[in-house]
Amino acid sequence: MSRPLYADINLQALQHNYHLAQQCAPNAKAIAIVKADAYGHGAVQVAQALVNDAPAFGVATIEEALTLREASIQTPILLLEGFFESSEIELLHEHQLWCSLHSEWQLQMLEACDQEGNLTLWLKVDSGMHRLGFCPDDALAQVIERLKGLKAVGQLGLMTHFARADEADNPYTSRQIELMKALAAQYQLPLCIANSPATMQFPEAQGDWVRPGIMLYGASPLPTGHPVGDQLQTVMTLRSKLISVRELPAGEPIGYGGRFVTPQTPTRIGVVAAGYGDGYPRHAVDGTPVLVNGQRVPLAGRVSMDMLTVDLSDQPNAQPGDDVVLWGEGLDINEVAAACDTISYTLMTGLLPRVPRRYR
Ligand SMILES: *Cc1c(COP(=O)(O)O)cnc(C)c1O
Repeated sequence: MSRPLYADINLQALQHNYHLAQQCAPNAKAIAIVKADAYGHGAVQVAQALVNDAPAFGVATIEEALTLREASIQTPILLLEGFFESSEIELLHEHQLWCSLHSEWQLQMLEACDQEGNLTLWLKVDSGMHRLGFCPDDALAQVIERLKGLKAVGQLGLMTHFARADEADNPYTSRQIELMKALAAQYQLPLCIANSPATMQFPEAQGDWVRPGIMLYGASPLPTGHPVGDQLQTVMTLRSKLISVRELPAGEPIGYGGRFVTPQTPTRIGVVAAGYGDGYPRHAVDGTPVLVNGQRVPLAGRVSMDMLTVDLSDQPNAQPGDDVVLWGEGLDINEVAAACDTISYTLMTGLLPRVPRRYR
């Protein structure tokens, strides 16, 4: 028998979540974001599961796009940050890749190697994130004119990214939305602005295209209790087993640094096959929830590279071989993330290649 740790990936739940995103934005088309190996779920498998539904996929690098092309995915693929050097421009034409354009240097590279083509370009506007994008001032008109003058360009659209769309009532997001709507009307261009939280809670942000990521993978980016968030289904469950159970007397330190010490009474300690060498966060605190046989037990002691330890005081019958869930079905990844002072995104994308993904 091999090591029992694996990521159990439910592709039906993924499809359900994609359809939910479509229902949230019935007048928009939904680009399925599959960057970072589909948030750790496996980009090829995820794209294959959505290929009949999604009109486009979104990735961060051309390598990610070409991996999908090698797997015979023919759907348009949007490069969310566009190209990084001019040698990629030819590949955009060759592989029918859509390209975000965020900077003057990219525009100059396009102008320098303008060839007859039909590129779909999404002009990124900095509407308030202050990370990437052109300023929404008068100079934008010139950028659009220059793009329209290129032989390489077919379709043009406007995109932006929200800084605070996970907050329910923030005027900052409203301002970003209003600005982009005004630009779309002024230049008569299609609009693509909403990430998952905006797709879920700001119908006015949906425009012509939306870009859901995390919601496809079943983790709500909103505070719990949201009607859409509550309908999301878990896609990834990180499963393992107990590989040792022992009783230790009172006052014994467990693991590196002795961070956890058994209390006044003898304590049953279980060892789980999962560690930071798999992507389980080392900074998880004592008390971080872990499911053993479907019941919550607290993490006890520092996470090691290949193992972690739990306090089984409430599970007197637990045995080696018993089932463990680190996050997923029965244990919301958002809760584990909160205990680790992070977000679901880093747990999912941080799952390392050593962990087998099994699809159902
Ligand atoms: C990652 C990303 C998204 C998806 O964001 P989620 O919060 O996961 O929905 C959308 N747009 C851009 C530009 C991104 O980089």
